Amino acid sequence: MATESMIVYKCPCCGADIQFEAGTDHLTCMYCDNTYEIDTLVNYEKGLSQQKPENFSWKDYDNNSGNGDWQEGELSQLHSFKCAHCGGEIIGDTSTMASTCPYCDNPVVINETVDGVMRPDFIIPFKKGRKAVDTAYKKFISKKVLLPKSFKTEHHIQSIKGIYVPFWLFDADSSGDGHFRATKIKHWSDSEYYYTKTEHYSVVRTADMSFEKVPVDGSVKMDDTLMESLEPFNYDMAVDFNTAYLAGYFADRYDVDVTHSIGRANDRIRNSTEEMLRSTVRGYSTVVTESVNVQIQEGDIHYALMPVWIANTEYRGKNYMFAMNGQSGKVVGTLPIDKVKLALITAGTFLGTFLVFLFGLGLLLGGAV
Ligand SMILES: [Zn+2]
Ligand SMILES: [Zn+2]
Repeated sequence: MATESMIVYKCPCCGADIQFEAGTDHLTCMYCDNTYEIDTLVNYEKGLSQQKPENFSWKDYDNNSGNGDWQEGELSQLHSFKCAHCGGEIIGDTSTMASTCPYCDNPVVINETVDGVMRPDFIIPFKKGRKAVDTAYKKFISKKVLLPKSFKTEHHIQSIKGIYVPFWLFDADSSGDGHFRATKIKHWSDSEYYYTKTEHYSVVRTADMSFEKVPVDGSVKMDDTLMESLEPFNYDMAVDFNTAYLAGYFADRYDVDVTHSIGRANDRIRNSTEEMLRSTVRGYSTVVTESVNVQIQEGDIHYALMPVWIANTEYRGKNYMFAMNGQSGKVVGTLPIDKVKLALITAGTFLGTFLVFLFGLGLLLGGAV
């Protein structure tokens, strides 16, 4: 008994299945109406199957790379403070004392010696001083309509600390390719019908790119969202690390292992690659990403410190944090909300709507009389 064999191809434009029937040399997609020669479909499938699997390969982080390990006498200039409450550990030079934890405001205990700490490759020095933080904080709270009045008058910032937050920085040359499905849609009409014509396109883009200093926060205690809101830092201003930059400031000790940061760096690089490739697909009505493939060989990883001012404030038993990018002066923070003020504003909006409605009705009635 003869068996009928049916080969199924994917439509390059819309992704639907196209069935190949013996004896024909052109195939038409039932869904998007595009017609292909069989060779086109065979080559397209071949291209897809030959696509290399995505590859992000990073060199192992080596503490002796960059500008090397701790030099003679450097560690003896430092001591560390440990918080028993949240486990935070900060490092400062011997002239700088800390009594409270910058993350949770509980007391810290001093350790005379520092060990097991990696020497950073780069540091971005503080550009904004303590005065700039006070000014920015006053401005920050003055604009907040929903802030309880007593918060502004009663409370004071308990502590402001300049902290270097640890970051992993990823450098890599990459090549990326993206497959996109796009359409061009035209509408027109005559006396009888409205017409819509949709043309489907399969768009391929490839590019070689170079990524420099893609940052991933290396601290668990420092909230990722807060830290990402403080970005960007200008990494061109990063200089080789030197303990002298720590005078008067603290440095957080990294607690996110480099291997745990690689996944986030890869995501950032993949997203930027997609955005970049997609931005070149122009002139279509719709564009959908079908796949993005990134190849990275032997990327470099560095360990760096970024400057952040952190101020903790307590209000009615709750801790609020205000932070400022020590380089650019950008600020973020959490503040309490006055529920009565919020209710009044909501009621005000409701009342406003009601009045407008009455006014409108009045006019209408007036017109009818
Ligand atoms: Zn199709
Ligand atoms: Zn703490």
